[in-house]
Amino acid sequence: MRYCIKVFGCQMNTVDGDRLRTVLQGMGWTETEEDSADLVIMVTCSIREKAEQKVFSDLGRFGKRWRETGRPAVAVVGCMAQRVGSDLFNRFPWVRLVAGPRHLGLVPGVTNSLLDSTSRFLMLDEDPVSVIDLETPGIVRSNRWRGYVTIAHGCDNFCTYCIVPYVRGRFQSRAARAIIDDVDALVRDGARDVTLLGQNVNSYGTDFPDGPSFSDLLREVAVIPGLSRLRFVTSHPKDFTKEIVEAMVENPVICPSVNLPIQSGSDRILKRMNRGYTVEEYAQKIGWIREAFPEAGLTSDLIVGFPGETQEDFELSLEALERFRYDLVHTAAYSRRPPSGAATMEQQLPEEEKTRRLNAVNALQKEIALSINKRFEGRVLEVLFDGPAPKGTGLIAGRTLSDKVVIAMGTDEDFGQIRKVRIERGDAWSLYGVLENPDPLIGGGISRG
Ligand code: SAM
Ligand code: SF4
Repeated sequence: MRYCIKVFGCQMNTVDGDRLRTVLQGMGWTETEEDSADLVIMVTCSIREKAEQKVFSDLGRFGKRWRETGRPAVAVVGCMAQRVGSDLFNRFPWVRLVAGPRHLGLVPGVTNSLLDSTSRFLMLDEDPVSVIDLETPGIVRSNRWRGYVTIAHGCDNFCTYCIVPYVRGRFQSRAARAIIDDVDALVRDGARDVTLLGQNVNSYGTDFPDGPSFSDLLREVAVIPGLSRLRFVTSHPKDFTKEIVEAMVENPVICPSVNLPIQSGSDRILKRMNRGYTVEEYAQKIGWIREAFPEAGLTSDLIVGFPGETQEDFELSLEALERFRYDLVHTAAYSRRPPSGAATMEQQLPEEEKTRRLNAVNALQKEIALSINKRFEGRVLEVLFDGPAPKGTGLIAGRTLSDKVVIAMGTDEDFGQIRKVRIERGDAWSLYGVLENPDPLIGGGISRG
């Protein structure tokens, strides 16, 4: 039996795709291309309408082969499966399984029955509290040198634009012991760079009676022998504490790179978004990070065209980009996501205006990122290479401690190694350089490049 896994959306979905792959392989299934698969599993996202449209259009494409050959059977799992539910069966008869993100653990038990044309399985998370997790045999990841570990499920913040709390359910931290064991297992298997994942990692432990805080967890994970680089994503500004920065200062293994989504530069809009901070409170937290690590990698998320966003509010977002000078910003035009609160707010903006604002923030951010990256030209940075560059023969890609992508000429032998690289050129997205030393530097946290 041959399967194909298609992942849409965030890093958590990539991890879920990797875990499903490991389970299926353990069950004797073989991975193949979409066109020859007996079973296609789609790990879906519903954060924006566009993300769902992409899945709908992919689902439609399977119809012809299915009508001619009875293949592929399709399983839709994750956030969009939870939101759309059994309607997927009605619209696409080749869909045999629909499972929400908290019920992935039930999927392997029925996978072998999915090719039988009469069976259909609906596994929605009616109870948004419990998690039926996947038991994965062995180590799971698509990149040998990099690993990801989910530290908490769900989210309780209910930002008014966001569907996540409705599809991923209540916030639930995983036990610290389980997280440490997962990171340890990854490191023993050769991972050098590990990222802790959650919708709001800073809330970690708040649901335990006397549990460790996120900074406690960071300290415990950072001392795992053999771990070179530790990252975490996503931080919510309202819960980002000085203790987290202190833990970073104490442990050079924790990378000076933080994703702190601002979402808007206007206090009025932040309030309507239910974000729980003002721009000045946000600025204070950026100040802690910059004071400790002047060259920290800082990334953010920004939504334009939220209901009621005036030209003045929008200009405040442009000002925030100029003020905080992020290395990278994930920008998006507001997309209506019922039942989240903002979907029924008045003063929804026309699509053309949202697009105009999106183009303007993207143009400004591109200029800022370019000017930051130009400053690295001529410098030598320490880069952990972990795979071929997406384009170009003989080119390999890696990351600095501050999470800058660096591309250089190299070979497979450089993967998993920290190398000194002289940067020759920077564009808005990446740095390009040449390897300086013939011998790799071993170990992480050598300097804060
Ligand atoms: N938990 C993270 C946080 O607090 O920022 C983000 C999680 S969300 C999966 C990733 C990003 O999608 C958000 O930061 C936001 O910018 C964007 N996003 C979420 N809902 C959106 C919507 N309705 N329209 C446009 N962008 C949205
Ligand atoms: Fe969505 Fe807000 Fe939760 Fe992030 S913190 S997942 S934006 S509700």
